[in-house]
Amino acid sequence: MTAEPLAPYIGMNGEIVPWADAKIHAFSPAVKYGAGIFEGIRGYWNDDRQEMYVFKLVEHMQRLEFSQKVMGFERIVDAKEMADQTLALLRACNFRETVHIRTAVVVDGYGESGATGPITTFITAVPRPLPKKVVDGVEAQVSSWQRIPDHAMPMRVKANANYNNGRLASIQAKRDGYDAALMLNTRGKVSEGPGMCFFMIRNGRAITPSTSNDILESITRDTLIELLKDDLGMPTEERDVDRSELYAADEAFFCGTGWEITPIRTIDRLAVGDGKVGGLTKKLQDRYFAIAKGTVSDYADWCTPVYQAAAE
Ligand code: PMP
Repeated sequence: MTAEPLAPYIGMNGEIVPWADAKIHAFSPAVKYGAGIFEGIRGYWNDDRQEMYVFKLVEHMQRLEFSQKVMGFERIVDAKEMADQTLALLRACNFRETVHIRTAVVVDGYGESGATGPITTFITAVPRPLPKKVVDGVEAQVSSWQRIPDHAMPMRVKANANYNNGRLASIQAKRDGYDAALMLNTRGKVSEGPGMCFFMIRNGRAITPSTSNDILESITRDTLIELLKDDLGMPTEERDVDRSELYAADEAFFCGTGWEITPIRTIDRLAVGDGKVGGLTKKLQDRYFAIAKGTVSDYADWCTPVYQAAAE
């Protein structure tokens, strides 16, 4: 299938190539077995400064290295190398809008499921404006699909194959008329969504499932724990969350690079608080976007400028 390109170029094995030329063989372990790992990252466009800021690039590249290590790749692509290639691609495409970036490391060649190489890298960046759900919020369904337990697949690793679990939950949610899925783990505790973590506010306290609940160690989750504490004076309880506690939430939201901070209005059709976007959720969103877009000067070390860095 040949579709319209979403961007002029792609990064592949350290080179910048036309979008249409980034190909991998159908017989590769990447295609046959989902043998690959990746990162989702955002570059936020700041129109006043005519600059793009990549949010927490270093942290994403460190997790990319960790994912390769755990999945047994024969060669670990260096974090700094991949970060530099990401910035080079963004400059080559000359984006002047907010983008979603994907850095992927996959097993190429003709091997079987135990193959550890050869390794191929891809970097894509495509325009991604603010999703409507971030403003309006979503209706969430507790899925009947359980989150894969970490002792079956390493859920703190961003392995492509993990995502078929969340895919089933997303399909179920959509079929049943919801916007998003929230999964319980094999212990019956709240885990996370298909591509995002979960927070709730209850009686003035922020609560999120701990990292022992088969979740990705989310960079946005860490960011929000820090902002809630330092900016809003609200420490986060990281602990088990029962399904029935969801229904006692005053506010709830999903978070992640792709989902940013997405308010949850209902869970299993029960209103969260008054069923509208929560006040604290909105406050946190405002702060998060101001920092990520580089419109405030604090936390500047979380944001890597794309064009200024090249000019220096
Ligand atoms: N959980 C899963 C399964 C994800 O895919 C993501 C998106 N990377 C998240 C949580 C959120 O992680 P992050 O904040 O690092 O993007």
